[in-house]
Amino acid sequence: MSAGVAMAGLNSSRSEPAPASTAPKPSSTTIALPICIAPFAQRELDPMFDDMRERAGVNVLFPFIYSHEPHRAGSPAEGFHGGNFATPHMQYYRDIPLTYQDMRAPEFGDVDVLARVIPVALKHGIRIFCFVLEDNVLPAAVPHWQALYEIDHHGRRTDRHPGGPCYNNPLYQQFTLGLIEDYARSYEIGGIMWGSERQSGLLNALSLSQSSGEDPGRTTCFCEFCQKKGRNRGIDVERARRGFGEVENFVREGRAGRRPRDGSFTAFWRLLLNYPELMAWENLWVSSRHEFQAALHARVKSINPALQVGWHVWQNLSFSPFQRAEEDFAGLAGFADFIRPALYNNVAGGRFVSFVKGAQSSVYGDLSPETILNLLYRQLNYDEAPRDKLAATGLSADYVERETRRAVEGVAGRATQIWPGVGIDVPAEPGMAHSTPESVSRAVKAAFKGGAHGIILSRNYVEMKPENLSSAGAALRELHLI
Ligand SMILES: [Zn+2]
Repeated sequence: MSAGVAMAGLNSSRSEPAPASTAPKPSSTTIALPICIAPFAQRELDPMFDDMRERAGVNVLFPFIYSHEPHRAGSPAEGFHGGNFATPHMQYYRDIPLTYQDMRAPEFGDVDVLARVIPVALKHGIRIFCFVLEDNVLPAAVPHWQALYEIDHHGRRTDRHPGGPCYNNPLYQQFTLGLIEDYARSYEIGGIMWGSERQSGLLNALSLSQSSGEDPGRTTCFCEFCQKKGRNRGIDVERARRGFGEVENFVREGRAGRRPRDGSFTAFWRLLLNYPELMAWENLWVSSRHEFQAALHARVKSINPALQVGWHVWQNLSFSPFQRAEEDFAGLAGFADFIRPALYNNVAGGRFVSFVKGAQSSVYGDLSPETILNLLYRQLNYDEAPRDKLAATGLSADYVERETRRAVEGVAGRATQIWPGVGIDVPAEPGMAHSTPESVSRAVKAAFKGGAHGIILSRNYVEMKPENLSSAGAALRELHLI
């Protein structure tokens, strides 16, 4: 079923809500906003929805509905537990170690956020999509989570990024399938977006990441389930493990400023030559995540084909030709109604600088940072600022347009829609660019010039300056989209 048909089916199956007095007619183009939980539990909803509708014509909201990370709830970190901000209906969570107390977020008392928000949102012409974004850190308050997490190549359980829950772990599979089934059956939602800001162990070990300083000894995953799956694919698990040990040494030497005798690129290529198991393990991780996503998509569609299921895609793809190869939009389109590539251009410059630093400690160790950046610009098809100005400038609206177009062309011929995540006031570290009404306007227009089918104004309503959200709305009005 096409996404367009799914949307029409959803609308026609619902009784027409009474229109809010001031609300304009919702646009047929998806104009979405992610939002943390606190405002849903604590604020008056009608004025908040009026504000979103009037400023930017928002017609879809993505609450971070399951998270153990305090900033996604909008809560203080001290003593934070988090979890499901709706109600876990336990019939959907069989044979997993997590209890109701493990899963249920206690931060806002008895409030079931979905039950509270959905009827009011629908009255304003706003549909709610559950946003399940994988935690970056093992939930400290929930010891039962540990059994779901990956094992690194030294045999240690991971507890944070770049490790995370394992896609081949049946407990994590059952938990996530149960969670989305719970949302799909228990609430009148418009859809579900799942996301993970991770990549394969090999790319992490090689420091090819916007989070480039991470420990190269934390390569994943070598849990019992991944080992079994690897053996079934004919991979020599012990040679894969040894190969990752060699990569770890290679990167540690690079970070210490010691260039291999034959050059960094040759040493990198020799690792792949001597340990083809590295690429096989890479493929195992990536294909396992895609199989996991396909299973989530199939589960929701089996419950209600009208619900839209899509993927948040980590911004690291914008900097890495390596991860770009792994996350092929044409492949993702086989099990996606929509895809949200994160294209936060204000913070992208600083993140790109971090990626270059990591790349110089491994694969590109033969080159200066300036040369690496120019090489990556050519490989990724960008025309952006020189390295010494990049963090302060950010990436341009032209980047937003090019990356949107690449995604749109990637899914061509399928019903999958591209809803780029355009950044508005994404928190910037010192020295990074900040959003302005002008930069937001340019980025929004660039997304649609690139062929976007909708847009996700990112990454959190509460982070946005009102004038910048209004500027997004003004651009959408200029484009006659709202
Ligand atoms: Zn595993």
